[in-house]
Amino acid sequence: MTLTLDDARQLDREDPLYKFRNEFYVRDDVIYLDGNSLGLLSKRAEQSLLDMLESWKNFGIDGWTTGEHPWFYLSESLGNQMAELVGAKPDEVVVSGSTTVNLHQLAATFYEPRDSKTKILADELNFPSDIYALQSQIKLKGYDPAEHLIRVRSRDGHTLHEEDIIAQMTDDVALIVLPSVLYRSGQILDMKRLTAEAHKRNIMIGFDLCHSIGAIPHSLDEWDVDFAFWCNYKHLNAGPGSVAALYVNEKHFGQTPGLAGWFSSHKEKQFDMEHTLTPAENAGAFQIGTPHILSAAPLIGSLELFKEAGIENIRKKSLKLTQFMMDVIDQELMEYNFTYGNPMEDHQRGGHIYLEHDEAARICKALKDANVVPDFRAPKGIRLAPVALYNTFEDVYRTVQILKDIMKHETYKKYENKRGVVA
Ligand SMILES: *Cc1c(COP(=O)(O)O)cnc(C)c1O
Repeated sequence: MTLTLDDARQLDREDPLYKFRNEFYVRDDVIYLDGNSLGLLSKRAEQSLLDMLESWKNFGIDGWTTGEHPWFYLSESLGNQMAELVGAKPDEVVVSGSTTVNLHQLAATFYEPRDSKTKILADELNFPSDIYALQSQIKLKGYDPAEHLIRVRSRDGHTLHEEDIIAQMTDDVALIVLPSVLYRSGQILDMKRLTAEAHKRNIMIGFDLCHSIGAIPHSLDEWDVDFAFWCNYKHLNAGPGSVAALYVNEKHFGQTPGLAGWFSSHKEKQFDMEHTLTPAENAGAFQIGTPHILSAAPLIGSLELFKEAGIENIRKKSLKLTQFMMDVIDQELMEYNFTYGNPMEDHQRGGHIYLEHDEAARICKALKDANVVPDFRAPKGIRLAPVALYNTFEDVYRTVQILKDIMKHETYKKYENKRGVVA
């Protein structure tokens, strides 16, 4: 059976989340498939940012304690609202810092090398910033990263095998940091299993949720994960450089933050201005300094949409979109030497499709000129993220047709096969 544009439109008509597309600034002439790098602006996020400016305008310094969203409590209250997206209790999550800063904070706190237990286990496919942060934390504790950072190898260059990770959970490992979803292939790691295996061996484990937050449900408490951290500008659509978030399992409450600052304080004590820190008794302790209120504000509106849509429904639609994309690709593109780098199975497939092609860099340029926004990852990866809240099945169908056109007429040959500065 051949899939057609009508089939795509039928799927859109049956889609219970279709109405959320209207909540976003979606350009009619562009198919945006890069929501896993930077999510689009929603009208609610815009409004909550404007409201925050208004509170600054009206209240000045008193905005810290008055108005609809008093700034002094914003990081905690946003954390409370996000908790259900990660399967946590409200006070186990706080909105703060950036992904990389939060990893620094959590590693500074929970990486406690001693005796022969001194190593950090990560993987060779992780995002460079995470690796740099771990390398610097190892150096700060007086060890050599070349020896103390172990990176699990990938067998195929795209995915990891949980049993390979488990095999490296040896007695000398003090801490494990892994992604929930790999940023290139979109593979979902089995966090429940990895956490159980780490704990059997007395190893702390934390996850980077950048590519899973807002795309797939999590049960961090149920899995007994020690900590997690993520950005809010990808699937959560909180804007470029928006404030990130972190999770700390309540069993670690009371632990002194590795990187302390006055916002690590118990809130009642903070303005006592003592030189001895009394840390907050929840995830709030892992904040450092004054929160970036204007960069957190869009999240207020954005989270409302996630609450209304429901993360289970978002995941359901996301799986349908990526499956439909693969079905149309299989139908239309097989003669053009594309290969899949993403897992095929639902339980392992995150929110995007990852295609590889030797000409990927210039195919992406041709797509952009044809008003489709993909995401190039050097040396030869094309990430395509149909996002449940604002993309349609018609977007997916049209994208594959446009890609086929580019391949058939070789229009990509007009471009240089080289990445741009930001790719
Ligand atoms: C996007 C992303 C980051 C980005 O970190 P920032 O501190 O926000 O720049 C880090 N790790 C992973 C896995 C990512 O996908």
